[in-house]
Amino acid sequence: MKKFNIKSSVNIEENPTDRQERISWWSQEKLKKAKVMVVGAGAIGNETLKNLALLGIGNIFIVDFDIISTSNLSRTVLFRKDDVGRKKAEVAAKRIKELAFYDDINVDWFHGDLVWEIGTGIYEEMDLVLGCLDNVEARMSINKQCWLAKTPWIDSGMYELGMRVEFYNPPQEPCYQCNLTPQQMQNANKRYSCDQAKLKAFDEEKMPTTQITSAIVSGIQVQEAIKFLCGEKVAIGKKIYFQGKNNDFDIFSKQANPLCDAHASYPKVVTIPFDVHSKLKDLLTFISQDMYAGKHASLDFRGDRAFIKAVSCRTCFSEISFMRPTFRINADEFICENCKTKGKSYASTNTNLETKKITQEVFNLENTNQKLLNFTLHELGVPYMHIIAIINHKGKYSYFKLIDKTILKTIK
Ligand SMILES: [Zn+2]
Ligand SMILES: [Zn+2]
Repeated sequence: MKKFNIKSSVNIEENPTDRQERISWWSQEKLKKAKVMVVGAGAIGNETLKNLALLGIGNIFIVDFDIISTSNLSRTVLFRKDDVGRKKAEVAAKRIKELAFYDDINVDWFHGDLVWEIGTGIYEEMDLVLGCLDNVEARMSINKQCWLAKTPWIDSGMYELGMRVEFYNPPQEPCYQCNLTPQQMQNANKRYSCDQAKLKAFDEEKMPTTQITSAIVSGIQVQEAIKFLCGEKVAIGKKIYFQGKNNDFDIFSKQANPLCDAHASYPKVVTIPFDVHSKLKDLLTFISQDMYAGKHASLDFRGDRAFIKAVSCRTCFSEISFMRPTFRINADEFICENCKTKGKSYASTNTNLETKKITQEVFNLENTNQKLLNFTLHELGVPYMHIIAIINHKGKYSYFKLIDKTILKTIK
């Protein structure tokens, strides 16, 4: 046998994945088919997206609500000086498309609020979700959604030169929330008022860290992802920990918490031909057919989100119309302008005035006014590709998945 074969070495050099495919258990085909959602396109997200593109992951969906700032540039390999002011998710998508050696790699992006706008159905479409985040609220949301959708996810976190990676694979316990303290869960809600309206003044904590740390933590996160997608054993329910200051590396087992309330999943889900741009009226008419939930079927928001029709001031009884879900309301909008301008002492305390919220959480053809019936599901606050809960007149629930034609153009 000849040691060197010029013809075959030319072929080898024409294959961009030749070196990685030499790993005994590697499956480039599985990676090419994989659908991976990356939540957060900041420091860790940039590294993770770069890694996924270079490894030849075929379908990538990026979610971030943030804008690129100058302070990001020392930690973000995908962003340039000229990108300051642009959307992180959009720029990251464009750059990894350039990096990818496959012409047919699918990259989608969404600029918006993960917690309120990304529906359970999107999670269900994914093979894996990678959390590249810096806050507990978003992690809790991913965790809950992944459990509902039975989609595995890998969390990552860092602080100075320390980092951790944790792999969760529902329904195998523990989940991310199992090990949170009550204090951490309480802090997770600090960007909202007690009514779940957004606090304008809320400032995200800024993490002391470097690009090197995000590169290492992302390297571990994506390495676990690749092993999993190729069908290899991974450290599920464990914490992989590395403290770079003193090179302390360890793996900890995490315990399942029997009192944890994040382990719910849907018994059965039926896909229906409606998306968030469909009108509430049309959805309810469809769902009220006998073959679905029958007469008096109601869309039920309880336990998920709230829709505020109006608030009325407890002092002057003036009513302000909202017709928006709580997450699209800033807490200071609840303050009664009428009383504030009159200079009442309580108005200057900068807290919410005691207003009475007029909400609607259950919608059916009988109890919903015409104006609301003509709202789209998006206007009501239903997330993209969400799995919605429908309650029938006997109080029995069924679950329906919305389709989507707009945000996931390619991942289907
Ligand atoms: Zn749990
Ligand atoms: Zn008032």
